[in-house]
Amino acid sequence: MALPRKKPKKPIAPWRQNILAHHQGRPSRADRADFPLKVVKELIEEAGGRCHCGCGLPDTETHHVMPRTRDGRGVKTNGMRVNGVCNQRFHDNEGELQHWIKVYTERHGPCFWYDEQDWEEHRRKEAIKAEEEVAKRLQDERLDPVITLLSTSAGRPLRAKEKRLIESLPEKQLYVLAGLMTDVVNGLNQAAGYHPNHGYGHYFED
Ligand SMILES: [Zn+2]
Repeated sequence: MALPRKKPKKPIAPWRQNILAHHQGRPSRADRADFPLKVVKELIEEAGGRCHCGCGLPDTETHHVMPRTRDGRGVKTNGMRVNGVCNQRFHDNEGELQHWIKVYTERHGPCFWYDEQDWEEHRRKEAIKAEEEVAKRLQDERLDPVITLLSTSAGRPLRAKEKRLIESLPEKQLYVLAGLMTDVVNGLNQAAGYHPNHGYGHYFED
């Protein structure tokens, strides 16, 4: 009888190839959760043959301190050599699981379960946040003199919807409005007999 032949691999449809190409080089969530052999060896060596929980039983498994279902990665700082019984207990008992998360946070920092990719995303998000803060500060600095001028002229603070209108104006239109308002205020001051040089024009000098 002939040996069963291996089923030939079905060629990937061209439309599908592009979709898959997009994902190439990116390890899956399951891959990222696996402890590499090298890491397991180091953890075994450091555990000295005992469960890390202090129960005295031999260590038989590597526990994800931050569980893989919560994006805990297979990195050394997320690995804990434990006995199988204890591993099961951690997963049945949220309190005990949280206890070890706390211990590892103190030991390795608040993102101890992150891998390189997590850190990369974390840094990217932080950079975007910082950029947005700078842009917001620049915008505030640009708007502040206009808002001050308008609220001084109006004799009251600007309402939220009025502030939103000012914020929505492109820079050029904002300066046109500010220039006009300066003239309005100066005109009113002059009409009322105030000295025109002490108007609000100084806010908009180059
Ligand atoms: Zn134990």
